[in-house]
Amino acid sequence: MERKGLIQVYTGDGKGKTTAAVGLAVRARGHNLKVCYVYFHKDPEKWEYGEHRVLEKLGVDVFGFAKKHPHFHKEIDPADIRKECLEGMEFIKRIYQEKKYDVLILDEIIISLRDGFLKEEEVLGILDSKPEDLELILTGRGAPEKIIKMADLVSEIKNIKHPFDKGIKGREGIEY
Ligand code: ATP
Ligand code: MG
Repeated sequence: MERKGLIQVYTGDGKGKTTAAVGLAVRARGHNLKVCYVYFHKDPEKWEYGEHRVLEKLGVDVFGFAKKHPHFHKEIDPADIRKECLEGMEFIKRIYQEKKYDVLILDEIIISLRDGFLKEEEVLGILDSKPEDLELILTGRGAPEKIIKMADLVSEIKNIKHPFDKGIKGREGIEY
């Protein structure tokens, strides 16, 4: 099938951005598309994200960069996080060259941008240089205007209520 890949952004302050991206990965695998899932600022040693394991079982290649965020690790040097995010950028460029995948998910890359570990032009460069047939998905709250403009699809998930507000902590199997 001839396909043209688009750019999708899942943003907003409500729950469901990462789970939407995971859902898309599952759907794509159901049609045997080749999927690569890259996450930023998530520490699987700490949280054991259920989605990473199950995606691997479905044949998705899963990679993580800048796993420790200063929000949880005060001792981390932001310069090191930037360096790791830039390694993620190099990794993405390699993926572009390899042309191995149909779908590339960059989970929380918008957080790298929001928190100043990546520059806007660096992320825009990734959007701009996307291979034509690759579907690219970016997630994270706070997507800036220029990213929104370049994307073909933008969903903003709006928080109406979240159990966190009444003190219910992230639950295994539901939030991670
Ligand atoms: P999910 O991974 O559940 O799809 P998300 O990707 O939309 O959520 P993030 O902004 O990545 O949400 O949030 C990281 C963590 O905070 C997740 O565990 C998520 O469930 C939780 N979360 C999402 N929205 C809210 C909210 N409005 N208030 C508090 N916690 C939230
Ligand atoms: Mg998320």
